[in-house]
Amino acid sequence: MNAQAPIKLIDGKAAAARVLAEVAEEVREMKAGGVAPALAVVLVGHDPASQVYVRNKVLRAEECGIRSLEHKLPASTAEADLLALIRGLNADSGVNGILVQLPLPAHIDETRVLQAIDPLKDVDGFHAENVGGLSQGREVLTPCTPAGCLRLLQDTCGDLSGQHAVVIGRSNIVGKPMAALLLKAHCSVTVVHSKSANLRELCRQADIVIAAVGRPRLVDADWLKPGAVVIDVGINRIEEDGRAKLVGDVDFDSALTRAAAITPVPGGVGPMTIAFLMKNTLAAARLQHPAPSTPAQFPEAPCPSIS
Ligand code: NAD
Repeated sequence: MNAQAPIKLIDGKAAAARVLAEVAEEVREMKAGGVAPALAVVLVGHDPASQVYVRNKVLRAEECGIRSLEHKLPASTAEADLLALIRGLNADSGVNGILVQLPLPAHIDETRVLQAIDPLKDVDGFHAENVGGLSQGREVLTPCTPAGCLRLLQDTCGDLSGQHAVVIGRSNIVGKPMAALLLKAHCSVTVVHSKSANLRELCRQADIVIAAVGRPRLVDADWLKPGAVVIDVGINRIEEDGRAKLVGDVDFDSALTRAAAITPVPGGVGPMTIAFLMKNTLAAARLQHPAPSTPAQFPEAPCPSIS
């Protein structure tokens, strides 16, 4: 983007409201056709942050007309019981999407649980079938946070072809699927992480920076090329001036002096994550009830060929 252009605040709340309005409209059409999309949300234990996330997801689902089915289990739940619940939800034709809120208590094997979810109901996109499909450029249910980030980038920059994107972080939830989606959108992608050398120098070469690290204000103006577009995924709770605060992985005030566009924290990526969960629930419902004349729709357009 042009370094001289005024800095643009990327408004995730407004973008998410647009996505949710689209979803609500499509849910209405689906219901008129006899299918009422439903999302099962499973929470194990009493982690306060997870409780807030689950409450927000349930609220957004209801606003879109998606039925939500909450399963709150004690922290002592045995893995076998959780797996049995998931098998039941897989078999229940009235459930279209299944979300297991992470993290799970330490005695439960997260991978085994995620792999137990029917890939067609895997609205988080964490099942290996969907992860593999994404890296092959196939149409699959895609992790919500990176899908939301991609939409913010496309809304801000338009066509991303040929842009150099640096993704900071290589988690299965954000960093890796983000890199796969950016490749699909024809970016040149560099992924950096805690063991990378010359992090700052690599970042300074980027047209697009995605920070998904979990380190408060790690990225400042010195890491950015003038005119870079910055997506801050980080959510860090800190104490500052005697007050609890939420900050991102980017030092917002400093980055503003270099970036062409930037997401705030809060109000950037967070609302898009929930909006794309609703979009995925709708996509999952369509996969299970394809209309005879229309193919199933995925939240992200497929990439016909990646070479
Ligand atoms: P994670 O801990 O699983 O992964 C963090 C990644 O950052 C790792 O790959 C690690 O190698 C890398 N890293 C750590 N320290 C680094 C450093 N100093 N320099 C470079 N790389 C470093 O975290 P995650 O699940 O990917 O989440 C990342 C952040 O995004 C967290 O703050 C999390 O709360 C937030 N998050 C936000 C949303 C949202 O909806 N906004 C969704 C998911 C995660």
